[in-house]
Amino acid sequence: MEIRILAHTENPDLLCAKIGRYSNVTETWDEIDRKMPSGGWEKFLQKVIKMGHTSVLEHAVFTFEITGVSRVFTHQFVRHRIASYLQKSFRRTKIKQLILPRTVLDAAEDPQALQKAAETLYREYFRRGVPMEDARYLAPMGSETAIIATFNARTLLESFFPLRLHRTAQFEIRAVANEMLRIVKEIAPVIFQNLEVDEKLLHEFKRTFTKP
Ligand SMILES: Cc1cc2nc3c(=O)[nH]c(=O)nc-3n(C[C@H](O)[C@H](O)[C@H](O)COP(=O)(O)OP(=O)(O)OC[C@H]3O[C@@H](n4cnc5c(N)ncnc54)[C@H](O)[C@@H]3O)c2cc1C
Repeated sequence: MEIRILAHTENPDLLCAKIGRYSNVTETWDEIDRKMPSGGWEKFLQKVIKMGHTSVLEHAVFTFEITGVSRVFTHQFVRHRIASYLQKSFRRTKIKQLILPRTVLDAAEDPQALQKAAETLYREYFRRGVPMEDARYLAPMGSETAIIATFNARTLLESFFPLRLHRTAQFEIRAVANEMLRIVKEIAPVIFQNLEVDEKLLHEFKRTFTKP
C-alpha cells in the first residue's frame, strides 16, 4: 500500500478560517485576506469547527493516489459518496498480482503457488482470447489495483475518518485511512488536530498484509 498526495488546497487551515470569518463580518474578502494571517486565526478556526459550522471545511480539498491495494479495499472505499474517484480499469489494464493478508498466506502450503493459482484462471481465459472486460469476472477480490480520490476536509473529518479509523472497520481500509490522516495532518494541522494516527496499527499492517 502506498499513498501520496497529488494536489491539495494551499494552506487549508488558513483558507477555512478566512471563509469562516467571511460569514459574520462586514469586511470584504480582501480586508480579511490582509488581516487574517496574523493573530489567533487558528483558535478562531477551532471554534468554528467546534460549533458545527463545518461547511467551511468543504472548501479545502485533497487529491490522493492510492496504489498497491486490493479490490476488496476499493469496493469499500468508493461507498463514501461525498468524494470523487477514478479507479484503474480492469477492462483496460491487466491485473498484476494479488494483495493478500498474512492469514491467507500462512494457510497456504506454497504462498507463491497460491498467488499464481489465483491469477491463473483469469490469465488463462485471457490467453484463450476472452476479452479483458469478460476475463476479469474470474479475477479474485484480492487483485491489486489503484485509485485516485479527492476528498474535502469536511468529509474526511466528519464522515470518512470516524468510520474508517474506527476499530470496527476492516484492516486494509483502516490502514489506508491512517496513512491519509498522516498526510492531511501535515497539511492542515488545525483541522485534523483531534485525530491521531494509529502507528501500532500501521506497523501491524505492514507485518501482516504483505505480498508473498
Ligand atoms: C464497519 C463498517 C461496516 C460496513 N458494512 C457494510 C455492509 O455490510 N454492507 C454495506 O452495504 N455497507 C457496509 N458499510 C458501508 C456503510 O454502510 C457506508 O456505505 C459507508 O461507510 C459510507 O458511509 P456514508 O454513507 O456515511 O458516507 P457518504 O456516502 O460519504 O455520505 C456522507 C454522509 O452524507 C449523508 N448522506 C449521503 N448520502 C445520503 C443519502 N442518500 N441519504 C441521506 N443521507 C445521505 C449521510 O449523513 C452520510 O453519513 C460498512 C461500513 C463500515 C464502516
